[in-house]
Amino acid sequence: DPTKSEVQGLDNLSPALKTALQDLEAKFTVDRQKLKQISQRFEEELREGLQKDGCNIPMNVTWTLGFPSGDEAGEFLAVDLGGTNLRVCWIVLKGREEEKVVTQKKYKLPAEIKTGEAEALWRLIVDSLEDFIATNELPRDDGEPLALGFTFSYPAHQDYVDHGVLQTWTKGFDIKGVEGEDAASQLTEAMKKRNLPVRLVALINDTTGAMIASAYNDPETIIGAIFGTGCNAAYMDHVGSIPKLHTDLPDATPMAINCEYGAFDNAHRVLPLTKYDEAIDRESPRPGEQSFEKMSAGLYLGELFRHILCEMYDKGLVFKGQDVKKLQEPYALDTGFLSSLEDDPFREARGRFEDYLNISITWEELQLAQRLAEIIAVRGARLCTCGVSAICRMKGIESGHVAADGSVANKHPKFKARWAQAMGEVLDWPSDRKEDPIIITSAEDGSGIGAAVISAMTLQRVKQGNM
Ligand code: BGC
Ligand code: MG
Repeated sequence: DPTKSEVQGLDNLSPALKTALQDLEAKFTVDRQKLKQISQRFEEELREGLQKDGCNIPMNVTWTLGFPSGDEAGEFLAVDLGGTNLRVCWIVLKGREEEKVVTQKKYKLPAEIKTGEAEALWRLIVDSLEDFIATNELPRDDGEPLALGFTFSYPAHQDYVDHGVLQTWTKGFDIKGVEGEDAASQLTEAMKKRNLPVRLVALINDTTGAMIASAYNDPETIIGAIFGTGCNAAYMDHVGSIPKLHTDLPDATPMAINCEYGAFDNAHRVLPLTKYDEAIDRESPRPGEQSFEKMSAGLYLGELFRHILCEMYDKGLVFKGQDVKKLQEPYALDTGFLSSLEDDPFREARGRFEDYLNISITWEELQLAQRLAEIIAVRGARLCTCGVSAICRMKGIESGHVAADGSVANKHPKFKARWAQAMGEVLDWPSDRKEDPIIITSAEDGSGIGAAVISAMTLQRVKQGNM
């Protein structure tokens, strides 16, 4: 059993800690059979979402109509509003064979903005755009407005490509005045008020961006997936397989779908929730939403770890007599903390407890913490295969590249190997296979380059007169 074999012997722990840890291990183990059960149910929810509006997994139509040819060219601005940063990019595309030019700047996205008013959000974005355009003296000789791709990494219902009604905030955001509204036109209004020489061409999701940016270089790309602050994926379907979509486009027209599968199993039919998962949900701005994401995405892994350590402290099992004020702060630990715990020599990991939490940790506690980080990350990585495997089964995809981005995929040292292992289990790949038929690759910058490529595809389509 691979989940068990990753967890080494517990020999050095005291009996009390050993028992506590074994109990946690049991609760966090997702074995092959459970993985398959989750993935089956996942496929059902994906199919439901294509049938009609208002389903748990929304399966949002994106109006990105097919993969890029590789010839897309032009100059584009991109705004990337993710879960953690705000980024503005200037991207020059000259086709697949030529090097891309990317100039970018990150702007602070203060915590107050994430739970404030819409106006403050759009002001921040417009300020950042204005600063970026000025410092880079962006060309506007022809008097034409600059084309902008807006990466809005939240669930949005799109009736066309430069439109997107926010369905619900995710990833801890809670900004008043955007849900149920068109985020694209709110940004456009804000830009107009300040006379920015910018025209929003496309609103995209980071998953669609990752898929398209990666396919621009790698035609074997089948899916764009984010394993980061949030978790989600996009794939290419076609119009005829989307019963809920009413359009004049021919059935064979390819259509990228942004699944928004972080919402999987909000009804809690198959996910093996622990009381820690339940606590995280309860304390979040949107209880009952994004159930799958809350068990697997980067925003929550550190928080799970923190909840468990707090409970152990309360039971007198760890950090006896120490000041744990820092540890008791919600979201005090990010995934980077867990990643480094799993990989680091003991000495450095100990220092990290000092630096981040003001806790001087014993060797025994450190061993426990490392094991805990592993248990949480292994569960997350294994769960992450359920969505991708469900897409592959639904579409009969047997091979290809899953272009992945996000802090967990790229910074966690063991994520990709664990993911690959669990994919084989859930899809019954033969154990003597030479190579995995579906592999995870590092995505191109979907929220920057992807936004530019999709904008280029959109402008090409406009020029040809078929929107
Ligand atoms: C959002 C998705 C996004 C994902 C990864 C989720 O919380 O709802 O739109 O793709 O995070 O950033
Ligand atoms: Mg991002």
